[in-house]
Amino acid sequence: MDFAIDSATQQRIEKLQELGREHMRPLGIEADKLGRPTPPDHPYFEKLVAMGYGRTRYKGRKGQDDTPVKSADKNKAKKRARSRASLLLSEEMSYWDRGVAVSAPGPGLGEGAIMSMGTEDQKERYLSPFIKLDKPRWGAFAMTEPAAGSDVAGIQTRAIKDGDNWVLIGNKSFSGNSSRSDFILVWATVDPSLGRGGHRAFLVERGMPGLQDFHIEKKMGLKAYESTSFRLEECRVPGENLLGGEAYYESRAGFKGAMATFNATRPLIAAMAVGIGRSALDESLAFARENQMLDDSRVRDRLERVTRKLRVARLLCLKAAWLADNQRPNIVEASMSKAVAPTAAFEATSFGMELLGMVGGRGDHLIEKLFRDVKAMDIVEGTGQIQRVVMARQLVGLPHG
Ligand SMILES: Cc1cc2nc3c(=O)[nH]c(=O)nc-3n(C[C@H](O)[C@H](O)[C@H](O)COP(=O)(O)OP(=O)(O)OC[C@H]3O[C@@H](n4cnc5c(N)ncnc54)[C@H](O)[C@@H]3O)c2cc1C
Repeated sequence: MDFAIDSATQQRIEKLQELGREHMRPLGIEADKLGRPTPPDHPYFEKLVAMGYGRTRYKGRKGQDDTPVKSADKNKAKKRARSRASLLLSEEMSYWDRGVAVSAPGPGLGEGAIMSMGTEDQKERYLSPFIKLDKPRWGAFAMTEPAAGSDVAGIQTRAIKDGDNWVLIGNKSFSGNSSRSDFILVWATVDPSLGRGGHRAFLVERGMPGLQDFHIEKKMGLKAYESTSFRLEECRVPGENLLGGEAYYESRAGFKGAMATFNATRPLIAAMAVGIGRSALDESLAFARENQMLDDSRVRDRLERVTRKLRVARLLCLKAAWLADNQRPNIVEASMSKAVAPTAAFEATSFGMELLGMVGGRGDHLIEKLFRDVKAMDIVEGTGQIQRVVMARQLVGLPHG
């Protein structure tokens, strides 16, 4: 296994460090104090677009992309290390501020599903505006409902066929960046009694009648980006907005498509947790040094333990990404990284809080913010418990439910 970083990724990490220090961390602290997400018209988002962030992996229809054609070898090498590079960049962004990282423009979590399941027309329509952004644009992904989180098979949002259209009825919750998005990839069911077999995904565009009642949730941490609930009140969606088209679902691949998205992104979430943990560790070390605590063997022991656990978690993330880069199954490693990294990062922030003592209780130290931020890393894209269920199922060879 090769975890070496190529020079282009290393340069991007260094650029990110500058961005993080100058913009991401201060913006994250500001949003945390104000208790609201960074507004979509904030100049920071324009800056990101100008720097080339927020672009899609989609290259446009063949012959349409006007970027110079790179040599086949260079492209191949880049592709081979894509997951590892994304992972390291995600970790670094999260080191500076995970909430600000998620608030960044881009096609969002739906991109993977559109790339793997969407028709050519859908890729063109929804992803091509992200090839070279003319302004900050977002896309969102909405699976979770008030009564369906871990048990995604239990979603109740109904999709009813009406002539050439689909009518969507239901409620979605905690969908990142959705009120500012050009489109939301909404998961619904044609028949709840079919469980996963009834799932369909729809590209719902901003302004479509019936897409309404956006409500930004109050969160304990990660306040710089919006997690939003909304309602689909007989929201009429044209037939061509069914992801992949009718034929795709006749092949019964719908639920698998959603889960494949998560296999690809779980190691990224895990790496983000490592980023938060590293940040807490650095702050803890600085605090311990400033307050002459490093002579205490108990403090040194905890520092070693937290550092070791974060490094182990990082290696697991890299292994999951390496397997993905080499087109090998990574379901166990993806879940393992997601189960392990948030726990290690949580320990790092808890340790920091213990060191701070009453300083932490005042609520204005960065470690205290990281302590609140890190909790969501265990929850999003499958809780730690769910990852353990997935791993157990794989490791004992049970049939997939
Ligand atoms: C900050 C944040 C951002 C999010 N962003 C998005 C987003 O962009 N799009 C989106 O669709 N969703 C999003 N979510 C929702 C997230 O995916 C769900 O919160 C998550 O899947 C857990 O679901 P739940 O909250 O309903 O908890 P529940 O499923 O009700 O679980 C409650 C507890 O029970 C445990 N549990 C449940 N089932 C089992 C089981 N079978 N075995 C053992 N333990 C179990 C869980 O581990 C958990 O501890 C976000 C959530 C948060 C907090």
